[in-house]
Amino acid sequence: MTAQIIDGKNFAVALRERVAEHTAYLKQQHNITPGLAVVLVGEDPASQVYVRSKAKQTVEAGMNSYQHKLAVDTTEAELLALIDQLNSDPAVHGILVQLPLPEHIDEALVINAIDPAKDVDGFHISNAGLLATGQQAMVPCTPLGCLMMLREYCGNLSGQNALVIGRSNIVGKPMAQLLLRESCTVTVAHSRTRNLRELVANADIVVAAVGRPLFIEGGWIKPGATVIDVGINRIEKSDGTTRLVGDVDFDAAKEVAGAITPVPGGVGPMTIACLLANTVTACCRASALPEPHGLTV
Ligand code: NAD
Repeated sequence: MTAQIIDGKNFAVALRERVAEHTAYLKQQHNITPGLAVVLVGEDPASQVYVRSKAKQTVEAGMNSYQHKLAVDTTEAELLALIDQLNSDPAVHGILVQLPLPEHIDEALVINAIDPAKDVDGFHISNAGLLATGQQAMVPCTPLGCLMMLREYCGNLSGQNALVIGRSNIVGKPMAQLLLRESCTVTVAHSRTRNLRELVANADIVVAAVGRPLFIEGGWIKPGATVIDVGINRIEKSDGTTRLVGDVDFDAAKEVAGAITPVPGGVGPMTIACLLANTVTACCRASALPEPHGLTV
């Protein structure tokens, strides 16, 4: 049996279309244009690529994009002052501070200075708490995209054994909370977990967010399981060029799994699409308008 390939690219295109449609509706019917502010401190090349791509897709969806590029020696106080200004700007519905920040800036302090209602990354402690207690939150983009795809491919997730590998604040922990909310039986594995292979073999759903190339072997996967591979790892090929791979050995796993996301083209494209969706959600909540169907979970 060969697994169904979960096409994150197609999924993201469809989600971005829904975002663009609702943005057009908000403009026409309510004269409101959702706005996303992205703050970048320093010149990290990968962060610059992410920020450009986020801004481009924001504009393509018909929303306003506000970019704030700050010098690497920006002080914490200066950054907090900008966050303050964005918090009180009614044209800004979503604020994203690109991570990582330079070492002299306290990342947690900055994230927690963002108005939780504008925290479209969902990293603010209020949003983490709201999610953990089953209340309306801004849901972190990567786990949100994973859950949307899981719901589509598995239907009702209730009672399924879900294994989340990785316990980071941006992927593993919120993913586990979302799956718990879906009534899965959730196990979280991490760097100190002893029996990972057995846990994988028992899981109907595996979400891998480790950051180790091809770490999860195909033979570990339970036949028919759904595998969501969040990992993005660059490895060198024998000819000296590089390629992107996930945390799961895709070629072997696809022979066993029921459905699996590829890398690239799986979870990655959904992350920015979910950021746009969160911005529209934040805009509707700020304007006391009903939330469109399908942009959050
Ligand atoms: P992280 O480094 O913060 O966390 C990695 C986690 O893996 C840790 O919780 C750690 O306990 C766990 N881990 C390490 N070794 C392990 C082992 N041997 N067994 C089990 N668990 C182990 O990483 P992160 O930010 O959560 O990201 C994880 C991966 O996902 C990275 O490859 C990252 O690039 C990728 N990522 C992709 C997207 C996307 O949009 N597709 C978004 C965020 C992160």
